[in-house]
Amino acid sequence: SFRALLSQRSDDGTITLSVETLEDAQLPEGDVTVDIDWAGLNYKDGLCLTGQGGLVRTFPHIAGIDFAGTVRESSDSRYGAGDRVVLTGWRVGETHWGGYAERARVKADWLVPLPEGMSTRDAMVIGTAGLTAMLAIDRLEALGISPQSGEVLVTGAAGGVGSVAIALLARLGYSATALSGRPEHADMLRALGAHAVLERGEFLSQPDKPLETASYAAAIDCVGGNVLGKLLRQIRYGGAVAALGNAAGISLDTNVLPFILRGVTLAGIDSVMQPYAARVAAWSRLAEHFDFAAYAGNVEEVGLADLPDRAARILKGQVKGRVLVDPRR
Ligand code: NAP
Repeated sequence: SFRALLSQRSDDGTITLSVETLEDAQLPEGDVTVDIDWAGLNYKDGLCLTGQGGLVRTFPHIAGIDFAGTVRESSDSRYGAGDRVVLTGWRVGETHWGGYAERARVKADWLVPLPEGMSTRDAMVIGTAGLTAMLAIDRLEALGISPQSGEVLVTGAAGGVGSVAIALLARLGYSATALSGRPEHADMLRALGAHAVLERGEFLSQPDKPLETASYAAAIDCVGGNVLGKLLRQIRYGGAVAALGNAAGISLDTNVLPFILRGVTLAGIDSVMQPYAARVAAWSRLAEHFDFAAYAGNVEEVGLADLPDRAARILKGQVKGRVLVDPRR
């Protein structure tokens, strides 16, 4: 048997969350059974745990879109008992039982072996957030951006993806500007390597023009909405923007001038359906460049019973850095 945070939906549609003990026979189908060491908390987990966005359709459910652990049993030749693995995406935690449990059963295709020297805890410090930040940087570089191109703006900077993006950019030699709605985290962002910190309200309060002063070579945007709309008008000639999030909403109010007069590229980033080879490459680059010691102060460890509170908080933009979930706690 194993402990899990079970989501159940009552007749009136409300979701209740409770820590329960389940039997292995209740696990969904899959080739690999994993003993979970750590799971993460992401914005999407907040949606799944509170029943928003229509992401979870069948109940009872176990949420948790990413986890790292040790293989317990495998009928797939690629994995054997004792192998350390990480899982992100593939709609695990949404349409398949996920990481908020001591055990999970998944498809071997969804797993990635942990890079040499990376612990399962390290893997969840990075998690979906860090993988997505890495994929965004890879994409900007494929579009010709390099540290020599100029300043890179990161929005939603104090959150999971944003803070890891700042740390990675700094380590890779970029000059990053952090945009955050929480000035109280400015010191943390500078400590992670941000060269400047901008307050979101101030950024948005500047008068809107079809094109604004070209300040940034590139941007990594975690929030969408009016923030993405505005920053696109501030990207320099030939620059690129990686759009990966919607914390401020799914709308995008912009105009074509940044694209046709400055040749700006707007590139979408998806971590969920990334092919295996791209995942392995991104994890390996993360293992090489992410400074775990420097990031340690931005990690909070919680147990399964703390998740309802943290889910509400991440949706309100109140989580700093990464929240790690210990399913034994
Ligand atoms: P997170 O830790 O909650 O970070 C989001 C940050 O966005 C917050 O910390 C906050 O940063 C800012 N924010 C929150 N509400 C806002 C609002 N109403 N207006 C403007 N800014 C707001 O979440 P996360 O897990 O890092 O995810 C960030 C975003 O990326 C989410 O939208 C998530 O769904 C998306 N995502 C996408 C992928 C993908 O594959 N494309 C993968 C992972 C995540 P400040 O307080 O610093 O402003």
